[in-house]
Amino acid sequence: ALTAGIVGLPNVGKSTLFNAITKAGAESANYPFCTIDPNVGIVEVPDARLNKLTEMVTPKKTIPTAFEFTDIAGIVKGASKGEGLGNKFLSHIREVDAICQVVRCFDDENITHVSGKVDPIDDIEVINLELILADLESVDKRIARVVKLTKQKDKDAVAEHDVLVLVKEALESDKPARSVEFTEEQQKIVKQLHLLTAKPMLYVANVSEEEIADPSKNEHVQKVRDYAAGEGSEVIVISAKVEEEIAELDDDEKAMFLEELGIEQSGLDQLITAAYSLLGLATYFTAGVQEVRAWTFRKGMKAPQCAGIIHTDFERGFIRAETVSYDDLVENGSMTAAKEAGKVRLEGKEYVMKDGDVVHFRFNV
Ligand code: GDP
Repeated sequence: ALTAGIVGLPNVGKSTLFNAITKAGAESANYPFCTIDPNVGIVEVPDARLNKLTEMVTPKKTIPTAFEFTDIAGIVKGASKGEGLGNKFLSHIREVDAICQVVRCFDDENITHVSGKVDPIDDIEVINLELILADLESVDKRIARVVKLTKQKDKDAVAEHDVLVLVKEALESDKPARSVEFTEEQQKIVKQLHLLTAKPMLYVANVSEEEIADPSKNEHVQKVRDYAAGEGSEVIVISAKVEEEIAELDDDEKAMFLEELGIEQSGLDQLITAAYSLLGLATYFTAGVQEVRAWTFRKGMKAPQCAGIIHTDFERGFIRAETVSYDDLVENGSMTAAKEAGKVRLEGKEYVMKDGDVVHFRFNV
């Protein structure tokens, strides 16, 4: 499964946020394919469409789709040189598909800051520099290897060398690989390099409970926004402490609490939604009287592959997918009405699934 890793310097609120994630945790019996590991938190993906489908179909049960966060502890200055748990930390990052970096934006004299003052940009640069140095080392090694092949006019080697040079230039001016604009062909090469700084990054600005209703007054948050904009990354603002409290509440209490705070969606829900889209994930639904359920797939996947997410037999014996878009289904009020209106399509093996498709797979066993 795709996962987003949570990183941050000590005392920025990482554990508090990760606690909120595990407390809000999904019923893991529903997600046998998820990783069971104390460092992995499984959360349900909030989706209003699922509630609507449940109202419409009145199934026996409704199951949201789930998503994994991995807690990656142990970053310190010098990680790329193997300081602290440095190497371990970097290898954990290598395994995740996106990075959520928690940045301390709350002032609290009682909580020590590792470098003595709250300075989010400084903090971000400490972490990003370690990732840059680690990538620089792998890029240099790789260049040494391909440069021999370029002399023999090996076309692939020449293309890779070009990419490596672009990445090296960026890294040497303290910029991540994700800030470089590559052609589509080059992007494929970049993927093969497994660079840490090529992974999508989401900055999570952690503010105090007093500031969460109106974080625009927090100057640290503004700095993080400017920094993120410079490399094309996103920022979400949360209060980890508030999230920890919310995670203990049931749905009604949660709604009331959020209203009191003056926020629409909990920070955790925003984080889940943002990480989900950062990873290029989308949702399709199955809607039967037994069960209405949301399923996660990677954008660009075709119908048989998507069927395989439910069960490998569904992929092997795939015949077709009876498909209606969520909007068409809701507009018509029921599956029967949508069929009569000609909105239900029979899609074959080459169909690229779309976010919001409501499907019934037909297959041979
Ligand atoms: P970690 O080292 O990054 O995992 O940080 P922790 O989650 O352990 O948090 C460090 C300290 O900061 C703890 O005492 C938390 O209670 C506190 N903390 C975390 N988030 C907030 C917040 O939003 N507001 C305030 N005032 N304190 C927070």
